[in-house]
Amino acid sequence: MSINENLEKLSNACGVTGRENDVKELMIRLMTPYTDEIVVDRLENVIAIKKGKQAAPKIMLAAHIDEVGLMVKTITKDGFLQFAKMGGIDDRILPAQKVMVYSKKGTFPGIIGSKPPHIQKEEERKKITASDELFIDIGAESKDDALALGVAVGDSVSFDVKYVQLGRDVVVGKAFDNRAGCVTMVEALKLMVKTDYTVCAVGTVQEEVGLRGAATAAFGVDPDLAIALDVTIAGDVPGVREFDTSVKMGSGPALTISDSGLITHPKVLRWLMETADQEKIPFQIEAGLLGSTDAARINITRQGIPSGNISIPTRYIHSPVGMLCLKDIENSAKLTVAAINNVAKYF
Ligand SMILES: [Zn+2]
Repeated sequence: MSINENLEKLSNACGVTGRENDVKELMIRLMTPYTDEIVVDRLENVIAIKKGKQAAPKIMLAAHIDEVGLMVKTITKDGFLQFAKMGGIDDRILPAQKVMVYSKKGTFPGIIGSKPPHIQKEEERKKITASDELFIDIGAESKDDALALGVAVGDSVSFDVKYVQLGRDVVVGKAFDNRAGCVTMVEALKLMVKTDYTVCAVGTVQEEVGLRGAATAAFGVDPDLAIALDVTIAGDVPGVREFDTSVKMGSGPALTISDSGLITHPKVLRWLMETADQEKIPFQIEAGLLGSTDAARINITRQGIPSGNISIPTRYIHSPVGMLCLKDIENSAKLTVAAINNVAKYF
């Protein structure tokens, strides 16, 4: 299947942090044809192994399979759902969003209630409504009615946004952070017909709440090197300063020099940059970024595992809908494979 088809499937699936099962099952299906063995660890990280002839280096690819979302925290007596945020979500973008609630009896829609402007006081118009004052309306008449529908405290809630292709190469959808990385990993395995080195492609859980899955996966896999496949902020829209990010959508994968959790080992950086140059794959570099990826955690696992990022420039991340260019995914996958094939020159 094409990048476009795989991204559509993965984007429409729900995997709010801590409840990644549907995405995990999908990743198992997508990676099985291209790998020798798949294991799921105790934290539910999915590890697809492609065996190589050489004993070393063993390379870990990491793409987190979770997404930011909400969790039902309380059900009011009138049947409204109050929620906790799972991962970094801006309170300002929540009101009036359509959402999906994943209960044990099935999935059903709701909306995050908002107050019409007519009845807002002057001060209310200027203020941001904090998430603890917001609620999800599922049309239930009472708490008992909501419970009868199957809703329970702890249920996952995701944004309700369907994947759409805009231009020939531009798509919008939910959870591109990090289904874009997941698709890149699948595509890389597909392109990697054979490799001399063992590659462990890991779909990690709970990245959005502190890179948790990556911690146990990296310890278990015990690789010599790692590459995290994730998204990065594309800042090529009005109102974003070049200082904050100079990465543009459609200009190729971004390689991180440093972010808030990782200073990429110079050898890793050289490996990725020189490979991209040799293969004539366009790339961008970014430094001093705020935020981090699984690479930050893997890098400091055991005695240290040199790690880098190959990131897909994505607009509007951590909001209900992101935008990206499919060509960037294709180039990210090509760079991943070329780097693995080129690894002996550097390590
Ligand atoms: Zn991410």
